Amino acid sequence: MRFDIITVLPGLLESPFAHSILQRAQRKGITEIHVHNLREYSTGKQKSVDDYPYGGGSGMVMTIQPFAACIEKLKAEREYDEVIFMSPDGETLNQPIANQLSGKKNIIILCGHYKGIDQRIRDLFVTREISIGDYVLSGGELPAAVLVDAIVRLIPGVLSDETSALSDSFQDGLLDAPVYTRPADWNGHKVPDILLSGNTPEVEKWRFEQAVERTRLRRPDLLGE
Ligand code: SAH
Repeated sequence: MRFDIITVLPGLLESPFAHSILQRAQRKGITEIHVHNLREYSTGKQKSVDDYPYGGGSGMVMTIQPFAACIEKLKAEREYDEVIFMSPDGETLNQPIANQLSGKKNIIILCGHYKGIDQRIRDLFVTREISIGDYVLSGGELPAAVLVDAIVRLIPGVLSDETSALSDSFQDGLLDAPVYTRPADWNGHKVPDILLSGNTPEVEKWRFEQAVERTRLRRPDLLGE
């Protein structure tokens, strides 16, 4: 799976993809993440990527020309399944959306800044708009990193223990059960006996009950309650 991320701040996206699971996925050749510097596509004198808003008001607006040039260049090289704009007014990212996108091949992601991007970029090029939550960040880079992480860890072969993604919170409509590791006794605070029993069916039963209980307490909406 290939991601092409278009941004004015490529430096912001270096670290999130250079460690841990995302780094391994790229080394294994399971995913490619290409970051494009929007400014390089600007034909403006100062390589500008923004301008004053028509109609006045505060905040600069990102211009259509550099985005159009970058998107058209990429589209001439390969077909894309989606052109996603990270935006607080998009559909809120959740596990079903991540699952669905993990089955795609090539995705372009646009990162906005300032007041946002010229509406015509959204009208002409964008196929999907995704928000990472009901709050406003200063740019689309962190949201893009969140989206890519949520998708890539679902691609088969990325996590060493593949079942681990399947039992994560939200994957089966439930939050995850509590987890423990050594020591079994930390200053008198003990791990539940059942987890030390070696009785796998009973452990699974306990985990399911804990997941249901935790979901009921913290996210009853997931149970339709
Ligand atoms: N004026 C815009 C916010 C602009 S914030 C509005 O009110 O909708 C600048 C950029 O940051 C956005 O264009 C978007 O790309 C990114 N961004 C900010 N918050 C985000 C969120 N919750 N989810 C996804 N992208 C976000």
